[in-house]
Amino acid sequence: MRLIVMGPPGAGKGTQATVVAANLGIPHVSTGDLFRANVGQGSELGLEAKRYMDAGEYVPDSITNAMLRDRITHDDCRPGFLLDGYPRTLDQVNELDMMLAASGQALDRTVELTVDTDEVVERLLKRAQDQGRTDDTAEVIRRRLEVYAEQTAPLTAVYEGRGLLVRVDGLGDVAEVTRRILAALAN
Ligand code: ADP
Repeated sequence: MRLIVMGPPGAGKGTQATVVAANLGIPHVSTGDLFRANVGQGSELGLEAKRYMDAGEYVPDSITNAMLRDRITHDDCRPGFLLDGYPRTLDQVNELDMMLAASGQALDRTVELTVDTDEVVERLLKRAQDQGRTDDTAEVIRRRLEVYAEQTAPLTAVYEGRGLLVRVDGLGDVAEVTRRILAALAN
């Protein structure tokens, strides 16, 4: 199973992606987590990425694509993977298509988690208190939502056009949303 989970910041992507990937027995590949791990290690990639992340901007495609390629060519991704936070730009969509084609693989489904803006802002501000992520300030959250609306929301149309998109309501408790996603994938 090769899946993408999309949705605005605060939609619960990371939480759901972790549970759904474990349920399906495939690796959860989160570009946000990979960047944060690099930031934590103080690697060159991390230092570069942090400048963008802290401003609520996307990390440049060249960096993101190379990091993702490196991750999904690991052996553990051979049976499948769940992508969380990738692709986020049209360039990344094209890059992923090329990566998959090169290894004779195909995507099975793209899940879009939908939530309204007021709800996501509230969740992100709460997460700021709980986890202290440096990109969860009100101003940076606003920018991340804008960038998502401009660059990433339109990408769902690409997957819809390919007949791969399923929309799932992200409102409700975590277990309920997980059930909805698994039910949508079973169809
Ligand atoms: P959220 O979806 O809540 O914003 P993520 O953990 O997915 O959180 O991403 C955090 C930050 O990491 C993004 O705001 C962006 O700066 C960077 N990032 C993650 N994935 C990508 C990507 N595919 N392309 C560019 N930047 C990315």
